[in-house]
Amino acid sequence: MPKISDLCALYDGHILPVLPEGDGICPVCHGPLLSGTSCCYQCREARSRLTATAAVVGFIALAVKDEQLATDLWVYKNSWSYEARLRPQLGLAAVLWRWLSLHESCLARASGVDRFPVVTTVPSAVHRYPHPLTTIIRDKVGATSDRYVELLEPSNSTYDEREISSTRYVATHTNSGNPEPVLIIDDTFTSGAHIQSASACLSEAGYGPIAALCIGRHFNRRPEKRGYMKSAESYYRAAKQLGWNWNVCSQCSTTAPP
Ligand SMILES: [Zn+2]
Ligand SMILES: [Zn+2]
Repeated sequence: MPKISDLCALYDGHILPVLPEGDGICPVCHGPLLSGTSCCYQCREARSRLTATAAVVGFIALAVKDEQLATDLWVYKNSWSYEARLRPQLGLAAVLWRWLSLHESCLARASGVDRFPVVTTVPSAVHRYPHPLTTIIRDKVGATSDRYVELLEPSNSTYDEREISSTRYVATHTNSGNPEPVLIIDDTFTSGAHIQSASACLSEAGYGPIAALCIGRHFNRRPEKRGYMKSAESYYRAAKQLGWNWNVCSQCSTTAPP
């Protein structure tokens, strides 16, 4: 069996950090902001539409469109070929395991708890059961396997990809005692609609605080929306300049490069 460090080495030189909080960066999703704004449109929408949002949203790395991590995050669940899916499944499991062992405590600290007794995933309405991310977290990653509980399932209604609603999901368990902290993991963060809707559903079912973790934060260097091009390019340059470092995450690194 390859070692975790060997599998993670496949990404060396291919991944970039998500920038920590700072000027021009959304304090919730750590994406680039339009100049003169203090929070991005999607994160503002999530806060205004949902009864609760995640206490913290953490990311392992930037999933830059068409680059290695973004490609693996697609192939690991979508390729028709078992062999093609297997390598990124192992690689992503190794990255997740290594990152959690170094930085899960950063998410706990940001959420105001010591640890997360429960780990769950955002269910997919598209992929067959069990979802490959569930298999990774429940069966492959030792840091999460004994804490995994399936708490959510997709609702029967149809939602647009970016629609924010706590009724996107249905809680399969309800916690009637003291609120229990939950770490909810998803593969790719695009707008936050999925993980924030899922966090709200968990809060309504009696869990909390909810910390969200996404393996890749989707990033498009050439956004279609006018006005974002400049901020996206300067964000990308800053991430390149900061460089990848396993010992730092967007929660425990507090200074963005100039
Ligand atoms: Zn945001
Ligand atoms: Zn950290």
